[in-house]
Amino acid sequence: MNKTFPFSCPVCARINEYPLTVMVEGAELKCPFCKCEIKLHGHMLAYVQKEIEKLTGPEPTPMTDSN
Ligand SMILES: [Zn+2]
Repeated sequence: MNKTFPFSCPVCARINEYPLTVMVEGAELKCPFCKCEIKLHGHMLAYVQKEIEKLTGPEPTPMTDSN
């Protein structure tokens, strides 16, 4: 199953879908619209990883919520 991540280009603000497997530290994401390359690192990487976690579901934790 190939999941993709909708990443909005910080330059032109268009949404591009990238496979989750390429969304790693140091990845260079080329925007097909404005042709700029975004290197994934720092707080942008942290943001992407958080969003991917939301997409793939939370990691199982020993604690159970009250619901
Ligand atoms: Zn762009």
